[in-house]
Amino acid sequence: MSARRLGVMGGTFDPVHNGHLVAASEVQHRFGLDEVIFVPTGQPWQKANRAVSRAEDRYLMTVIATASNPVFSVSRVDIDRGGQTYTVDTLRDLRAEYPDDELFFITGADALEQILTWRDVDELFDLAHFIGVTRPGYQLHDHHLPQGRVSLVEVTAMAISSTTCRERVQRGEPVWYLMPDGVVRYIDKRKLYTQPQS
Ligand code: ATP
Ligand code: MG
Repeated sequence: MSARRLGVMGGTFDPVHNGHLVAASEVQHRFGLDEVIFVPTGQPWQKANRAVSRAEDRYLMTVIATASNPVFSVSRVDIDRGGQTYTVDTLRDLRAEYPDDELFFITGADALEQILTWRDVDELFDLAHFIGVTRPGYQLHDHHLPQGRVSLVEVTAMAISSTTCRERVQRGEPVWYLMPDGVVRYIDKRKLYTQPQS
């Protein structure tokens, strides 16, 4: 079998929302990717001073959100490794699992900003081609990024973040149409995000 082109979309996905899905869908189309693998992060002790939902809940929401798309899938590599996730570990594991395939790591403008501060940055660019997507409220620019290893893509603006989704649920405001219906129902079923966000 010839090399496949695999997108990798890492995230906390607490919860997954339509901004993630639109970005992955657009990049899949533009780059002719055979598959986009969503990779929920392992369980950090906390993220920006708040408790992160259980890995299994974040994993299941991601499965629910992607299940109907034949070119979307979900990987447990970061969840099963556990602890804080470093993208270099994600890409090493996926490279080992798919040694003959080409990896494209998809990241929003906010995360791309921090890319040079990431662990083992030189190895990162050897493991995957990076695709930065536009995100409302953040600037996408390519200075300092290694030539030829990063592509920037404009995607339909979805001014949605997991943070605002959690806050809306906590305040009892609707999140319908910000994420797939099944994710809204799962949040309600498990009573996620009902505690005040600190
Ligand atoms: P939080 O508010 O908890 O940080 P988030 O909405 O930023 O959540 P993450 O799980 O942190 O979601 O993001 C995973 C990836 O998706 C990151 O690369 C992020 O930049 C990207 N992303 C998230 N929301 C959007 C959006 N609305 N448009 C484009 N990219 C997005
Ligand atoms: Mg984020």
